[in-house]
Amino acid sequence: MILSAPSGGGKTTIAQALRTARDDVGYSVSATTRQPREGEEDGVDYFFLTPEEFQRRIDANEFMEWARYGGSRYGTLVSEVERILKSGKHVVLDIEVQGARAIRERLANVVSIFILPPSARVLRERLTDRSTEHGDTLGSRLQHAVDEVAEAPDFDYIVTNDDRAQAVAEVAGIIDAESQRPMRLPGMAKTLNELRDALAEQAQSMRHRS
Ligand code: 5GP
Repeated sequence: MILSAPSGGGKTTIAQALRTARDDVGYSVSATTRQPREGEEDGVDYFFLTPEEFQRRIDANEFMEWARYGGSRYGTLVSEVERILKSGKHVVLDIEVQGARAIRERLANVVSIFILPPSARVLRERLTDRSTEHGDTLGSRLQHAVDEVAEAPDFDYIVTNDDRAQAVAEVAGIIDAESQRPMRLPGMAKTLNELRDALAEQAQSMRHRS
């Protein structure tokens, strides 16, 4: 499942809240060349790589997708996605829109959700509150937001992050509904066949009786 939003849109907080609330959700830790913000931990929030190490991993085909954003590079590691899939959990990717497009083109079985800030003012306030962002970065992130919001209609779902608890509940509802699609129910084809056979047998024995 892909969560995308303009920077400051709250998708990281939503992804973290989801992970805490549900043990069937695993969060893919991305790699980046940007510097850690205060409180961010290597291997938890991101794998913080040097540009050379990031390039080495691109060359070694270790990324499922990667993109440039605000002068840094960000990428989804194949190893992260495989680690979570192996544990039988839903994989949540918190990525920007170019990466989201690349993954949608590559994987048919992906669900994409665009998290919308409730207003331009709220997004600006949230970005300003990130004391680590410098003025120029704030401006460029807002400019990025203009382009990112234009991509929202291409996503499967749009959730507005006004009240965080409600946004988390809405995303959880989407996960639950999507889990019930026939293609995501392992063994369903067999169950349906068995049910059809059993029903056909019953119908036949009724016909014999009448
Ligand atoms: P931030 O620097 O605020 O943590 O992230 C900047 C942007 O990069 C956000 O929109 C975030 O979702 C995105 N991002 C984080 N990880 C990845 C990734 O692995 N791939 C892509 N394409 N974008 C990412």
